[in-house]
Amino acid sequence: MVENANLKPVATRYYRKKVDLFTLLEKMKLWPSRTGTLHGLKSIVRHGEMATLTTHCGRSFKVRNSRNSRAARWLRGKLYQEACRDCAVPDWKLAKYGATFFSRRQGSLLKGAPVP
Ligand SMILES: [Zn+2]
Repeated sequence: MVENANLKPVATRYYRKKVDLFTLLEKMKLWPSRTGTLHGLKSIVRHGEMATLTTHCGRSFKVRNSRNSRAARWLRGKLYQEACRDCAVPDWKLAKYGATFFSRRQGSLLKGAPVP
């Protein structure tokens, strides 16, 4: 990623609403917590239908691969109050996220992504 990416216009992108949650997390590296803080993801380790997520601020937790989970819905709806300061989510990433939309009819399912 280039440092000055936030100076360029951010391309609008679309993903499907039914995109796989883990694939989406691996792509976006963002996690909306229950308290309304948007964290940056350091790692995602899959164990079948579960995955252990670790944030840059050092939190680690397990989540289930569900498109209808609270986090999946909040991620698609961009429901967060603020970005985590400890995670130091860069502005270009927030801009990219802001220009990302989820649609039932158009966009990528991210099916081409390699599955670890
Ligand atoms: Zn954080």
